[in-house]
Amino acid sequence: MLKLFRRSKAPKPISEAELARRLTAPGYRCACCGEVWDAANAVRLRPFGWAHPPAPLPDEALDGSGDVVTERYARRGRDLLVRAKLPIPVRGTDEHVFLQVWANLSTGDFARFRSAQGRGDADRLGDLFAWLYSRVPAASGPVLSKGVIVPVAGGGMPVYWITDPKHPLLAAQQDGGLTAPEIAALYEDLGAGELLRHLRA
Ligand SMILES: [Zn+2]
Repeated sequence: MLKLFRRSKAPKPISEAELARRLTAPGYRCACCGEVWDAANAVRLRPFGWAHPPAPLPDEALDGSGDVVTERYARRGRDLLVRAKLPIPVRGTDEHVFLQVWANLSTGDFARFRSAQGRGDADRLGDLFAWLYSRVPAASGPVLSKGVIVPVAGGGMPVYWITDPKHPLLAAQQDGGLTAPEIAALYEDLGAGELLRHLRA
């Protein structure tokens, strides 16, 4: 009889497979609030060392002077940055999550990339060397890591691949990926704890 009164009222922890499904569903409707989340694309990082970047302006603002952020590009001092998505395979699935990061291109590559994006044929540029300009994970790892921007056709957001062997996510990105709980821990490290509370509800 007593067992009846020992039942926990807390929701049952969800399985790894279910967490993976909620992380990668194109639109996951939360059981607690009914809100729809695109968890695979929800993490957008700031440029490294830029705690309070200004609100995004139209891309034309880059033609002026000073520090600028747009949805796709940024300029800070002499550093020219491109927003890119860093894919991480979700282990045990065919899916990925995509961290939105910033990457630092040379002045020449930045100009070539931007005009090719305008034409929609940036994929013809091939891979471009770029420093990873966001801290992933937030608390550790090299400050700036080597990698490549992989442009895509049609003006879409380019992909970022880490190539620096010292980066803690290199193996995860290029080999087996991370498990759903490991991705959840990374999301929390990157400040997306609120999203995780909804995904686990
Ligand atoms: Zn919710």
